[in-house]
Amino acid sequence: MKSSPLFVGLDVGGTTMKAGVVDNNGQPLSSISLPTEAYKGQENGLERMCETIRLAVSKAGLGLDQVAAIGVATPGTMDIPAGVILDPPNLNPWRNVPVRRHVHDIFKVPTAFQNDANAAAYGEYWVGAGKGSRSMVLYTLGTGVGGGIVIGDMVLEGEHSHGAELGHMKIEITNPRQCGCGRWGCLEAYASATGVVKRTLDALNQDEGKSSLHAVMKKYGEITAKEVFDAAASDVLAAKIVEDTAFYLAVGTTNMMHTIDPDIVVFAGGMIAAGEFFLERIRYHVKQLAFPVPAAKTQIRYALLGSDAGFIGAAACGRQLHNKQAACA
Ligand SMILES: [Zn+2]
Repeated sequence: MKSSPLFVGLDVGGTTMKAGVVDNNGQPLSSISLPTEAYKGQENGLERMCETIRLAVSKAGLGLDQVAAIGVATPGTMDIPAGVILDPPNLNPWRNVPVRRHVHDIFKVPTAFQNDANAAAYGEYWVGAGKGSRSMVLYTLGTGVGGGIVIGDMVLEGEHSHGAELGHMKIEITNPRQCGCGRWGCLEAYASATGVVKRTLDALNQDEGKSSLHAVMKKYGEITAKEVFDAAASDVLAAKIVEDTAFYLAVGTTNMMHTIDPDIVVFAGGMIAAGEFFLERIRYHVKQLAFPVPAAKTQIRYALLGSDAGFIGAAACGRQLHNKQAACA
């Protein structure tokens, strides 16, 4: 009997890169992280990627000849069809890095290349919160707001590799906040951890010293989104910030529901530590904002794969490429 194929996924982030071997059912057999150290330059970065892949394979007790395909996910900007990272803000000073060609030249197996947020969405779609669904939208809530869309086993890359930039959907037109991207009124400017902190600091400036968060500011000179969420149960100002965050995410979600009408919308990233009550508030506002049928039927859930979603999804992209090539052979 022919053994079922194995894949390697590599998720390159601004601080670490994580790789793992994943079996044909989406089960990880190993995982390993190395520091990205982008500042050392892109030649070093490409070598580090290959080293992380090799270590993931040896950690699974396998040989490289047992790998059927590889998938690599990186932050943008990028040209996905060309397999090239262009000018990535999180991987400074890398420019025009031919990632797919390099990895393919070294390992000589089919190699897929994908945006990291898209890969995370594909991982959740394959074996995470979106398993069994036909269409899924993913929001990743961290320092920024990432996005991914999968419809019928196809990752929506867009014509110019800028599909599913859900964090930069405009949600505020009058008096908009500035986003980390430099533009105005993006969802990320409101609902990312950074956006939550900025809105909190503005609210504290308007507040006459009643909020318990003044003491946090006084003690540490700064405040985190986690502290705001933790204070929400007993602090009126914090509760309003959290409620507004749920509302902004519901605005973004409703816009996506009215665009593609997905089976499921999934939230991932550090901020989902806020727990079930936060998800309930997003669901509540979606019910107010959306058409009745999608409001009743679209599922809204938290992600299940945590920080493994990226490499599992990257492996899934490798698997998809492998299956396509097998079908054509
Ligand atoms: Zn933006």
